[in-house]
Amino acid sequence: MTSPRPCTAEPELWFSTLKADVAKAVKICQACPLQAECAQTAVEQNIRWGTWGGLTEKQRQPRRKPSLPKPAECGTQLAFWRHRSKGETCQTCEAWHAAEVEADRRRRLDAEHAKGGGTKTGYDLHLRLKEQPCSACREVNRLACENARKRRVAARSLA
Ligand code: SF4
Ligand SMILES: [Zn+2]
Ligand SMILES: [Zn+2]
Repeated sequence: MTSPRPCTAEPELWFSTLKADVAKAVKICQACPLQAECAQTAVEQNIRWGTWGGLTEKQRQPRRKPSLPKPAECGTQLAFWRHRSKGETCQTCEAWHAAEVEADRRRRLDAEHAKGGGTKTGYDLHLRLKEQPCSACREVNRLACENARKRRVAARSLA
């Protein structure tokens, strides 16, 4: 995620009054890590125009007593980004993120091995997974290092 606030990239959509645009903005807000805070601020400050925190102008009218969205539960992607964008550290979400990163590396490593043996990327992934690379990846890496060394020697002899 580049910006935790998707609306900053396309603010017109959040101030459009076209039904389709409002629906689109609401949907994007619902996947925004700051939805709960954003909706709360808009209601508390009685912001009249635009879609905020997934609530439309109409939904935020005080007489409608808008029900505010709850913050994402810890241990989810939204909660992780919510903490990050607020500069908070949450043990549960950090552990969730570390497990996600590890699972992703494991998936990528499996894909490398499925190419029919070891690869240089596979070697790096083993190391990132803090494990001893398999013999096939070690061999590919050894050859890559050897070739690089030969190229350096050849370049030096030409200089
Ligand atoms: S929830 Fe708020 S910050 Fe997030 S996209 Fe919607 S308007 Fe922007
Ligand atoms: Zn958390
Ligand atoms: Zn391997």
